[in-house]
Order: sequence, then structure tokens, then C-alpha cells
Amino acid sequence: MWKEKHPDQPLRWPDGIRLPILVSVHHQSEEATCPFPDGQPDPFDYGERQYGARRGAWRLLEILGKHGVRGTWLICGATLEKYPEVSRAVKQAGHCIAGHTYAHEVMCNFPPHTELGLIKKTVSAFEDLLGEHIQGWRTCFASHNTIDLILEHFDFEWDGSMWNDDLPYIIEGHGRQVLQIPFANYSDTALGVDITSPSNPPTRYSTWNANPPDFQFRGLKSAFDALYERGAERAVMMPLVAHDFITGRPFRAKVLDDFIAYAKQFEGVVFAGHDQLASWWKNLYAA
Ligand SMILES: [Zn+2]
Repeated sequence: MWKEKHPDQPLRWPDGIRLPILVSVHHQSEEATCPFPDGQPDPFDYGERQYGARRGAWRLLEILGKHGVRGTWLICGATLEKYPEVSRAVKQAGHCIAGHTYAHEVMCNFPPHTELGLIKKTVSAFEDLLGEHIQGWRTCFASHNTIDLILEHFDFEWDGSMWNDDLPYIIEGHGRQVLQIPFANYSDTALGVDITSPSNPPTRYSTWNANPPDFQFRGLKSAFDALYERGAERAVMMPLVAHDFITGRPFRAKVLDDFIAYAKQFEGVVFAGHDQLASWWKNLYAA
């Protein structure tokens, strides 16, 4: 059991910060490959997604580096095991690193003991291969048990699995607290929600063919403009999700590149990792 805890006063960021942009790179590559009706992985979709680790993640790393942007890399345990050199380069570049389930499981389909085992397996993979004790977590498809499991069995400082708010909030339970930093997926896969609907199964095109680059750029820019305007009066933040196999493609990566260049021009815009946001929160609100 847990409950939410919100600050007594309106949220504010440290002085000089008008709009934090949280770039989350989902480094999951082929882990969420869509199955054929017989349960076997769709080989075309497998290849499409595997592009993420082979090429996409490297390109994203390069673009973030070019702009001096620090982001958060949400990495699946299995992806880390198969392509450790990507995660090592991410770590070397100084990004915030967090867990993203073992093989991108849809956790709401599993009982709590299975979910717990998968989170533990992921945490161990980071310790074994990167020497990293992760402090953050995101399950794209969290179950009703995810938060309880995180609070009861792990020492994560933050979780980013919820889709339900614009701003962070504290979740308290099992004798401790975790900062919830919610996310949204509009930045690279507007059709993400379709993935969970059995009546509308994903196609190999559903994540990109429906959203050409100009649409994508306009979406990011309009989100930014709205938030930047609002940020003059109250705390706002911009979650920006970039999947390695989607945004990592050259034509999409260019959109991210152009968007970062656009946003950087504005005063008070800060690109921050989730760990930085968590430390701001701690400094401002720790009792
Ligand atoms: Zn994901």
C-alpha cells in the first residue's frame, strides 16, 4: 500500500530554470518485438527494432554529445547483456542510467512474484556488467503491483513509470519514499497506446509511418512553446522520449537534433537527467 504526497506549496525549480527538458532514451532494441499469432517473434519487426542497438542508440548518443545534452538512458537488462558496449559508452558519456525491465515485459500481465524476479534480474545485470547500482526505474507497462514492489524491495530514488501527470510527486509506502517523475510518449511514438490493445495490434508501420518527420518536429515545437510560455508563471517540465529504434533512424534523429538546437536558444531551458531532477526535489522539499 502506498499514498501520494504533494508539496504544501506550488512546485518550483531552482533559480534560473524555466523549463527542464528530460530526454529519456529507451534503449530496448528488439526486446519488445511483436509476436506472430503462433507466439514466435515477427522476424521483420525483430530486425526493425534490432536497429536500435546496432545503429540508433549510437546515433542518439552522438547527437546528445554534440549538443552537450545530458539525458537519462532507460536500458533493458537483456539489451545491456546483448550489447554491453552501447551501455558502457552511455556511462562513459556521463548520462543518467536507469532500468527499463528485463526484456521490456508488459508487467501488467504478470503476477507480482514474476515481476519482482524480473526487476531483480535487471538490477543485477547493471551491477554485473556496468558496476552500476541503479537509482531509477521505468516500466512502460506497469502493473498495479509495480509501485509496491519498488518501494518494498528496492532503494530506487525515482520511478518514471506513470503516465498520469505533468509534474513529479512523492509516493510513500513500505517505510520509504520514491519520487515519481511521470512521462509521456508523444515525442516519438504517438501510437504507443495501440500496442496494448488486442483489437488493434501493432503493425511494422504503426510507430513511424503514421508520423512523418515534419509532423514530429511540429509536435515537439508546439509542446515546447506551450510549456515555455507557461513556465514563466509556474513549474513545468517537458518529458521527451526517444526510442533507439524509432528516433535513432536518421530522418527521425535529425528531428531530435533540430529540436534540441531550437530549444537551446531559449533562456532558462535546461536539459536534465532524472537524477538531477530528483536532487533538485530533495534540496527543495526534503523535510
Ligand atoms: Zn519502453
